[in-house]
Amino acid sequence: MSYEFQDINMSEISQEASAINKDSNVMDMFVKMPEKDGFVLLRFLPPMKEKPLFSVTRIHRLGNRSFHCARTRKHFPNGIYWVNASNNPADDCPICQEYSRLWKVSNNQSGEQQSRTQAQAREIKPIERYYWNVIVRQQVNTKTGQVEKNVGPKILSCGKTLQSIVLESINGSELTGRPKLGNITHPVSGRDFRIIKKIVKGSGGQEYPKYDQSRFEDPSNLGEDDQIKAWLDAMHDLEALKQYRPRTELIEALREHFGSKSGGNTAQWEESAQPARPAARPTPANPPVAHEISDMGGKNTQPAVDDIDSMMDDDFVNAVNRITG
Ligand SMILES: [Zn+2]
Repeated sequence: MSYEFQDINMSEISQEASAINKDSNVMDMFVKMPEKDGFVLLRFLPPMKEKPLFSVTRIHRLGNRSFHCARTRKHFPNGIYWVNASNNPADDCPICQEYSRLWKVSNNQSGEQQSRTQAQAREIKPIERYYWNVIVRQQVNTKTGQVEKNVGPKILSCGKTLQSIVLESINGSELTGRPKLGNITHPVSGRDFRIIKKIVKGSGGQEYPKYDQSRFEDPSNLGEDDQIKAWLDAMHDLEALKQYRPRTELIEALREHFGSKSGGNTAQWEESAQPARPAARPTPANPPVAHEISDMGGKNTQPAVDDIDSMMDDDFVNAVNRITG
Protein backbone atom coordinates (compact mmCIF):
# COMPACT_ATOMS: atom_id res chain seq x y z
CA MET A 1 0.00 0.00 0.00
CA SER A 2 1.55 3.31 -1.04
CA TYR A 3 -0.43 5.55 1.22
CA GLU A 4 -1.35 5.78 4.87
CA PHE A 5 -4.77 6.24 6.29
CA GLN A 6 -6.13 6.39 9.80
CA ASP A 7 -8.36 3.71 11.18
CA ILE A 8 -11.57 4.79 12.83
CA ASN A 9 -11.78 4.79 16.60
CA MET A 10 -14.56 2.26 17.17
CA SER A 11 -15.12 2.98 20.84
CA GLU A 12 -15.41 6.71 20.20
CA ILE A 13 -17.90 6.16 17.39
CA SER A 14 -19.93 3.79 19.49
CA GLN A 15 -20.11 6.39 22.24
CA GLU A 16 -21.14 9.06 19.73
CA ALA A 17 -23.82 6.77 18.31
CA SER A 18 -25.33 6.03 21.68
CA ALA A 19 -25.26 9.74 22.58
CA ILE A 20 -27.24 10.55 19.44
CA ASN A 21 -29.79 7.87 20.22
CA LYS A 22 -30.03 9.05 23.77
CA ASP A 23 -30.76 12.62 22.72
CA SER A 24 -33.48 11.54 20.35
CA ASN A 25 -34.93 9.33 23.09
CA VAL A 26 -35.08 12.35 25.34
CA MET A 27 -36.87 14.32 22.67
CA ASP A 28 -39.25 11.38 22.26
CA MET A 29 -40.23 11.78 25.92
CA PHE A 30 -41.94 15.05 25.04
CA VAL A 31 -45.08 15.71 23.06
CA LYS A 32 -44.12 17.19 19.73
CA MET A 33 -46.28 20.05 18.50
CA PRO A 34 -47.12 20.31 14.80
CA GLU A 35 -44.57 22.37 12.90
CA LYS A 36 -47.19 24.59 11.21
CA ASP A 37 -50.97 24.76 11.66
CA GLY A 38 -52.29 21.48 13.01
CA PHE A 39 -53.42 19.57 16.07
CA VAL A 40 -52.35 16.98 18.62
CA LEU A 41 -54.92 14.78 20.33
CA LEU A 42 -53.86 13.61 23.77
CA ARG A 43 -55.14 12.40 27.11
CA PHE A 44 -53.98 13.76 30.46
CA LEU A 45 -53.10 11.01 32.95
CA PRO A 46 -54.09 11.18 36.63
CA PRO A 47 -51.44 12.23 39.16
CA MET A 48 -48.91 9.76 40.56
CA LYS A 49 -49.43 8.79 44.18
CA GLU A 50 -48.66 11.74 46.49
CA LYS A 51 -47.49 13.86 43.56
CA PRO A 52 -49.14 16.96 42.11
CA LEU A 53 -51.34 16.62 39.03
CA PHE A 54 -48.89 18.73 37.05
CA SER A 55 -45.51 20.27 37.68
CA VAL A 56 -44.80 23.98 37.31
CA THR A 57 -41.54 25.80 36.83
CA ARG A 58 -40.22 29.09 35.49
CA ILE A 59 -37.57 29.17 32.84
CA HIS A 60 -35.22 31.97 31.84
CA ARG A 61 -33.92 31.84 28.30
CA LEU A 62 -30.44 33.25 27.85
CA GLY A 63 -29.79 33.03 24.13
CA ASN A 64 -30.46 29.39 23.34
CA ARG A 65 -29.85 28.14 26.88
CA SER A 66 -32.57 27.54 29.48
CA PHE A 67 -32.29 27.91 33.23
CA HIS A 68 -34.85 27.05 35.87
CA CYS A 69 -35.63 30.14 37.94
CA ALA A 70 -34.26 29.91 41.47
CA ARG A 71 -37.34 31.49 43.04
CA THR A 72 -39.99 29.40 44.82
CA ARG A 73 -43.68 29.36 44.00
CA LYS A 74 -45.72 30.19 47.09
CA HIS A 75 -49.41 30.57 47.88
CA PHE A 76 -50.53 33.82 49.54
CA PRO A 77 -54.09 34.92 50.41
CA ASN A 78 -54.26 37.14 47.34
CA GLY A 79 -52.60 34.83 44.89
CA ILE A 80 -49.58 32.76 43.99
CA TYR A 81 -46.19 34.45 43.75
CA TRP A 82 -42.66 33.45 42.94
CA VAL A 83 -40.48 34.58 45.83
CA ASN A 84 -36.97 34.30 47.14
CA ALA A 85 -37.55 31.66 49.80
CA SER A 86 -34.81 32.83 52.18
CA ASN A 87 -35.42 36.60 51.72
CA ASN A 88 -31.68 37.07 51.57
CA PRO A 89 -30.83 38.86 48.28
CA ALA A 90 -27.65 36.80 48.10
CA ASP A 91 -29.84 33.69 47.61
CA ASP A 92 -32.24 35.25 45.13
CA CYS A 93 -32.46 34.26 41.47
CA PRO A 94 -29.84 36.54 39.89
CA ILE A 95 -31.68 36.53 36.57
CA CYS A 96 -34.88 37.78 38.21
CA GLN A 97 -32.83 40.41 40.06
CA GLU A 98 -31.39 41.63 36.78
CA TYR A 99 -34.80 41.52 35.13
CA SER A 100 -36.26 43.78 37.88
CA ARG A 101 -33.24 46.05 37.78
CA LEU A 102 -33.57 46.60 34.03
CA TRP A 103 -37.25 47.55 34.40
CA LYS A 104 -36.41 50.00 37.17
CA VAL A 105 -33.65 51.52 35.06
CA SER A 106 -36.03 51.87 32.13
CA ASN A 107 -38.49 53.87 34.27
CA ASN A 108 -35.99 56.71 34.35
CA GLN A 109 -35.34 56.55 30.63
CA SER A 110 -37.28 57.63 27.58
CA GLY A 111 -37.53 57.02 23.87
CA GLU A 112 -35.23 54.63 22.16
CA GLN A 113 -33.02 54.15 25.20
CA GLN A 114 -36.02 53.03 27.23
CA SER A 115 -37.17 50.64 24.49
CA ARG A 116 -33.71 49.14 24.34
CA THR A 117 -33.54 48.50 28.10
CA GLN A 118 -37.03 47.03 28.12
CA ALA A 119 -36.16 44.75 25.22
CA GLN A 120 -33.14 43.54 27.21
CA ALA A 121 -35.39 42.83 30.18
CA ARG A 122 -37.85 40.87 28.04
CA GLU A 123 -35.02 38.70 26.73
CA ILE A 124 -34.51 37.22 30.20
CA LYS A 125 -38.10 37.33 31.41
CA PRO A 126 -39.12 34.27 33.46
CA ILE A 127 -41.56 32.11 31.51
CA GLU A 128 -43.85 29.67 33.30
CA ARG A 129 -43.89 26.12 31.98
CA TYR A 130 -46.18 23.32 33.06
CA TYR A 131 -45.45 19.60 32.73
CA TRP A 132 -48.10 16.87 32.47
CA ASN A 133 -48.05 13.11 31.92
CA VAL A 134 -50.08 12.36 28.80
CA ILE A 135 -50.87 9.68 26.23
CA VAL A 136 -50.67 10.89 22.64
CA ARG A 137 -53.65 9.38 20.83
CA GLN A 138 -52.04 9.41 17.42
CA GLN A 139 -48.69 10.48 15.99
CA VAL A 140 -46.50 9.87 12.97
CA ASN A 141 -43.23 8.18 13.89
CA THR A 142 -40.62 10.37 12.22
CA LYS A 143 -38.17 7.45 11.91
CA THR A 144 -40.49 4.88 10.36
CA GLY A 145 -43.16 7.12 8.83
CA GLN A 146 -45.80 4.90 10.47
CA VAL A 147 -48.87 6.23 12.24
CA GLU A 148 -48.76 5.12 15.89
CA LYS A 149 -51.71 5.13 18.28
CA ASN A 150 -51.78 5.65 22.06
CA VAL A 151 -48.12 6.52 22.56
CA GLY A 152 -46.73 7.29 25.99
CA PRO A 153 -46.69 8.20 28.73
CA LYS A 154 -45.06 11.32 27.34
CA ILE A 155 -44.50 14.72 28.90
CA LEU A 156 -46.51 17.67 27.69
CA SER A 157 -44.58 20.88 28.31
CA CYS A 158 -46.97 23.79 27.83
CA GLY A 159 -47.22 27.50 28.48
CA LYS A 160 -49.86 29.65 30.15
CA THR A 161 -52.40 29.62 27.32
CA LEU A 162 -52.88 25.85 27.28
CA GLN A 163 -52.56 25.58 31.04
CA SER A 164 -55.36 28.07 31.65
CA ILE A 165 -57.64 26.32 29.13
CA VAL A 166 -57.08 23.03 30.96
CA LEU A 167 -57.58 24.45 34.47
CA GLU A 168 -60.62 26.53 33.47
CA SER A 169 -62.13 23.45 31.86
CA ILE A 170 -61.66 21.39 35.03
CA ASN A 171 -63.06 24.16 37.28
CA GLY A 172 -65.46 25.86 34.89
CA SER A 173 -65.12 29.59 34.27
CA GLU A 174 -67.81 32.26 34.26
CA LEU A 175 -65.36 34.64 32.67
CA THR A 176 -64.68 32.54 29.57
CA GLY A 177 -67.97 30.61 29.67
CA ARG A 178 -66.20 27.26 29.85
CA PRO A 179 -68.44 24.61 31.43
CA LYS A 180 -67.11 22.67 34.41
CA LEU A 181 -65.82 19.32 33.17
CA GLY A 182 -64.40 18.06 36.45
CA ASN A 183 -61.74 15.37 36.47
CA ILE A 184 -60.68 15.23 32.84
CA THR A 185 -58.01 12.65 33.78
CA HIS A 186 -60.55 10.02 34.92
CA PRO A 187 -59.88 6.69 33.11
CA VAL A 188 -63.57 6.16 32.31
CA SER A 189 -65.31 9.54 32.39
CA GLY A 190 -62.33 11.73 31.44
CA ARG A 191 -61.80 13.42 28.09
CA ASP A 192 -59.20 13.69 25.38
CA PHE A 193 -57.71 17.13 24.76
CA ARG A 194 -57.21 18.53 21.29
CA ILE A 195 -54.36 21.02 21.10
CA ILE A 196 -54.98 23.22 18.10
CA LYS A 197 -52.06 25.23 16.83
CA LYS A 198 -52.52 28.16 14.49
CA ILE A 199 -49.72 30.35 13.21
CA VAL A 200 -50.58 34.06 13.34
CA LYS A 201 -48.67 37.21 12.51
CA GLY A 202 -47.74 39.70 15.24
CA SER A 203 -47.88 43.46 14.82
CA GLY A 204 -44.23 43.48 13.76
CA GLY A 205 -44.91 40.88 11.05
CA GLN A 206 -43.25 38.04 12.93
CA GLU A 207 -45.07 34.72 13.11
CA TYR A 208 -45.92 32.92 16.32
CA PRO A 209 -48.17 30.04 17.34
CA LYS A 210 -51.55 30.49 19.02
CA TYR A 211 -53.24 27.70 20.94
CA ASP A 212 -56.42 29.40 22.16
CA GLN A 213 -58.76 27.21 20.08
CA SER A 214 -57.62 24.06 21.93
CA ARG A 215 -60.41 22.14 23.67
CA PHE A 216 -61.57 18.96 25.37
CA GLU A 217 -63.52 16.32 23.43
CA ASP A 218 -66.54 14.33 24.64
CA PRO A 219 -65.97 11.85 27.52
CA SER A 220 -64.23 8.61 26.54
CA ASN A 221 -62.34 5.68 27.98
CA LEU A 222 -58.65 6.10 28.53
CA GLY A 223 -58.01 2.53 27.26
CA GLU A 224 -58.19 -1.16 28.17
CA ASP A 225 -57.49 -2.10 31.79
CA ASP A 226 -54.10 -3.75 31.19
CA GLN A 227 -53.07 -0.84 28.95
CA ILE A 228 -54.06 1.69 31.63
CA LYS A 229 -52.16 -0.20 34.30
CA ALA A 230 -49.00 -0.22 32.19
CA TRP A 231 -49.30 3.51 31.47
CA LEU A 232 -49.88 4.46 35.09
CA ASP A 233 -46.84 2.39 36.10
CA ALA A 234 -44.67 4.13 33.51
CA MET A 235 -45.51 7.75 34.28
CA HIS A 236 -42.67 10.27 34.53
CA ASP A 237 -41.73 11.95 37.79
CA LEU A 238 -42.45 15.49 36.62
CA GLU A 239 -40.89 17.19 39.63
CA ALA A 240 -37.56 15.61 38.72
CA LEU A 241 -37.49 17.63 35.49
CA LYS A 242 -36.60 20.72 37.50
CA GLN A 243 -32.84 20.68 37.64
CA TYR A 244 -31.48 23.76 39.40
CA ARG A 245 -28.06 25.17 38.63
CA PRO A 246 -25.79 26.81 41.21
CA ARG A 247 -26.30 30.56 41.58
CA THR A 248 -22.75 31.25 40.43
CA GLU A 249 -23.51 29.48 37.17
CA LEU A 250 -26.58 31.66 36.58
CA ILE A 251 -24.53 34.79 37.24
CA GLU A 252 -21.87 33.63 34.82
CA ALA A 253 -24.49 32.88 32.16
CA LEU A 254 -25.98 36.36 32.63
CA ARG A 255 -22.58 37.92 32.31
CA GLU A 256 -21.97 36.03 29.07
CA HIS A 257 -25.42 36.90 27.75
CA PHE A 258 -25.19 40.64 28.33
CA GLY A 259 -21.42 40.84 28.25
CA SER A 260 -21.13 42.55 24.92
CA LYS A 261 -24.30 44.62 25.19
CA SER A 262 -24.69 46.20 28.58
CA GLY A 263 -21.79 48.62 28.30
CA GLY A 264 -20.57 48.44 31.87
CA ASN A 265 -23.82 48.61 33.79
CA THR A 266 -23.30 47.47 37.34
CA ALA A 267 -25.89 44.86 37.89
CA GLN A 268 -27.41 43.90 41.20
CA TRP A 269 -25.81 40.47 40.95
CA GLU A 270 -22.38 42.07 40.76
CA GLU A 271 -22.69 43.46 44.26
CA SER A 272 -22.35 40.10 45.93
CA ALA A 273 -19.08 41.13 47.59
CA GLN A 274 -21.07 43.49 49.83
CA PRO A 275 -22.76 42.08 52.91
CA ALA A 276 -26.33 41.24 51.98
CA ARG A 277 -29.09 43.14 53.72
CA PRO A 278 -31.84 40.81 54.90
CA ALA A 279 -35.11 41.91 53.31
CA ALA A 280 -38.39 42.13 55.17
CA ARG A 281 -39.96 38.73 55.43
CA PRO A 282 -43.21 38.67 53.47
CA THR A 283 -46.24 38.11 55.63
CA PRO A 284 -49.70 37.10 54.49
CA ALA A 285 -50.75 40.74 54.94
CA ASN A 286 -47.77 41.94 52.99
CA PRO A 287 -47.19 39.61 50.07
CA PRO A 288 -44.12 40.32 48.02
CA VAL A 289 -45.88 41.80 45.03
CA ALA A 290 -43.04 44.17 44.45
CA HIS A 291 -40.90 41.19 43.47
CA GLU A 292 -43.26 40.44 40.71
CA ILE A 293 -43.02 43.09 38.07
CA SER A 294 -45.75 41.60 35.97
CA ASP A 295 -46.06 42.91 32.50
CA MET A 296 -44.45 45.91 32.16
CA GLY A 297 -46.12 49.03 30.80
CA GLY A 298 -45.31 50.09 27.32
CA LYS A 299 -46.24 48.42 24.08
CA ASN A 300 -45.21 44.82 23.95
CA THR A 301 -44.69 44.02 20.30
CA GLN A 302 -42.96 40.74 21.10
CA PRO A 303 -44.65 37.47 20.27
CA ALA A 304 -46.34 35.82 23.23
CA VAL A 305 -43.26 34.16 24.62
CA ASP A 306 -45.18 31.78 26.79
CA ASP A 307 -46.60 30.25 23.65
CA ILE A 308 -43.31 29.14 22.21
CA ASP A 309 -43.48 25.50 21.33
CA SER A 310 -40.60 23.98 23.04
CA MET A 311 -37.89 24.69 25.53
CA MET A 312 -35.57 22.10 24.13
CA ASP A 313 -31.91 22.78 23.86
CA ASP A 314 -28.68 21.05 24.74
CA ASP A 315 -28.77 22.09 28.37
CA PHE A 316 -32.27 20.84 28.83
CA VAL A 317 -31.54 17.56 27.08
CA ASN A 318 -28.46 17.09 29.26
CA ALA A 319 -30.47 17.80 32.38
CA VAL A 320 -33.07 15.24 31.39
CA ASN A 321 -30.33 12.74 30.58
CA ARG A 322 -28.95 13.17 34.07
CA ILE A 323 -32.24 12.21 35.63
CA THR A 324 -33.23 9.48 33.21
CA GLY A 325 -29.81 7.86 33.34
ZN1 LIG B 1 -35.63 33.83 38.15
